[in-house]
Amino acid sequence: MSDSFDVVVIGAGPAGYPAAIRAGQNKLKVACIDEWKNRDGKYAYGGTCLNAGCIPSKALLESSELYHRAETEFAAHGIKVGSLGFDLAAMQKRKAGIVRASTTGITGLFKAAGVTALQGHGRLLRAGVVEYTAADGSKRELQAKHVVLATGSVPTALKSAPFDGARIIDSWGALELDAVPKRLGVIGAGVIGLELGSVWRRLGSEVTILEALPEFLPMADQQVAKEALKHFKKLGMDIRLGARVSGAKAAGDAVSVNYTDDKGEQTLTVDRLVVAIGRRPFTQDLLAADSGVRVDERGFIEVDEQCRTGVDNVWAVGDVVRGPMLAHKGKEEGVMVADLIADHFAEVNYKTVPSVIYTAPEIAWVGQTEQEVAKSGREYKIGSFPFMASGRARAMEAPAGFVKIVAAKDSDEILGVHIIGPMAGELIAEAVLAMEYSASTEDLQRTIHAHPTLSEALHEAALAADKKAIDFPNR
Ligand code: FAD
Ligand code: NAD
Repeated sequence: MSDSFDVVVIGAGPAGYPAAIRAGQNKLKVACIDEWKNRDGKYAYGGTCLNAGCIPSKALLESSELYHRAETEFAAHGIKVGSLGFDLAAMQKRKAGIVRASTTGITGLFKAAGVTALQGHGRLLRAGVVEYTAADGSKRELQAKHVVLATGSVPTALKSAPFDGARIIDSWGALELDAVPKRLGVIGAGVIGLELGSVWRRLGSEVTILEALPEFLPMADQQVAKEALKHFKKLGMDIRLGARVSGAKAAGDAVSVNYTDDKGEQTLTVDRLVVAIGRRPFTQDLLAADSGVRVDERGFIEVDEQCRTGVDNVWAVGDVVRGPMLAHKGKEEGVMVADLIADHFAEVNYKTVPSVIYTAPEIAWVGQTEQEVAKSGREYKIGSFPFMASGRARAMEAPAGFVKIVAAKDSDEILGVHIIGPMAGELIAEAVLAMEYSASTEDLQRTIHAHPTLSEALHEAALAADKKAIDFPNR
């Protein structure tokens, strides 16, 4: 193998592997290095997302939701089941199969795009030179006209509750449990806390979530956050806000967590404790001291809008750079960089990166919240539509939640769309497309939506922005 490439990508997560594939499609000679090893000690492409994040979590969310719906909704459909139960080992096996299919799929995609796939460690020595350490420890210097750093992120540890891999675990540990803990504690009511908390709650755990902030889901529209909290409480999740953890200690079979809230010092005893307080960028042993690449005080590689690091032909994408830590944001950055390298036009519109929380009801949004627009001083109007007025949602036995559109009062441009309800993560795609084309609520109003579909809720919310909703009284 020649050691000279047009592009060397370090990291094959959802930011790195699309960068490598697009570079291959652009007829560039490309190599992608990845060091991820799964619990069986085997290398696997796909990074956090495919191995320990998006994909395995969604597999367990789906299984646990089906179980929960069988328990709580089937009777309403007139479906009778005998004694309902589940086999956690089978659920975990299904999840592992989905992960395997996804990660091995990347090997095939690399082949098809002509990407040289390298397993092992990559390190930027200087512009144009990457040191590659293979599985057997042998080292080689690869010459690269361009280098893309896509090394992702790892869970943030909490000093007062250090991971022990057994009782105090991270999100990966929480996806791998082989028994349902009777009492599950979670530190952090963020996306991971809510998704994985939902999985184990539906399977029977008593779930308590300790959140340091006094507000719930501060990044979401507050009307959505309020509605979501109501449903999580109904599911039986005990979410304690304003809880500042001062220590956690595993003792015998249990973990005891000390925290302070506005009532004073409290103790929570659980069987497993998941620490999900965010993730931090990962650059360990990535940059030689004189590589010239700058890392900010929080550990992110510094880049401009087009993911240039400031060192000639060295780029960085995904969780290791600023912006939301989301797979699709990383993917768009990876593809953009590979296109820029090939001298094609490319950009990422950071204003239309959607967020989805895959709970039930699902939560999804794009653009600004009502609170952000109000704070900006811009005059706005709101159009909303509840799923209980949607025939399709009622037929699905899923009437909870609503669609809310925030639009500029003067130009009618859509500024943000917020959905809590069935398939919110799918419905938000229409809003993303609308905002990508700077659509107005009138554009959505004039777009035909099939009946009966959940997407009609978006149509009706757009109509409601001008008090023209048909299927719900206008206010
Ligand atoms: P990563 O996926 O972390 O990949 C980086 C890769 O680089 C890894 O394989 C790593 O081993 C490798 N690497 C690091 N350093 C080196 C080196 N020096 N040499 C060689 N290889 C190296 N996001 C969503 O958008 N939707 C979701 O539903 C979602 N669910 C999630 C659920 C969980 C439980 C978690 C933890 C995360 C979830 N995320 C989700 C976030 C998502 O996983 C990340 O945003 C995404 O994986 C970031 O992609 P990345 O390519 O930047 O980094
Ligand atoms: P997060 O930032 O979503 O939530 C962390 C929560 O922990 C916050 O609410 C924060 O206030 C709280 N917190 C921080 N320190 C604390 C402390 N000491 N005590 C109590 N609470 C504390 O982070 P996460 O849930 O760990 O997820 C990490 C990343 O992974 C996120 O950036 C997210 O975007 C991504 N992710 C995305 C999805 C998805 O897109 N559906 C799913 C899972 C993870």
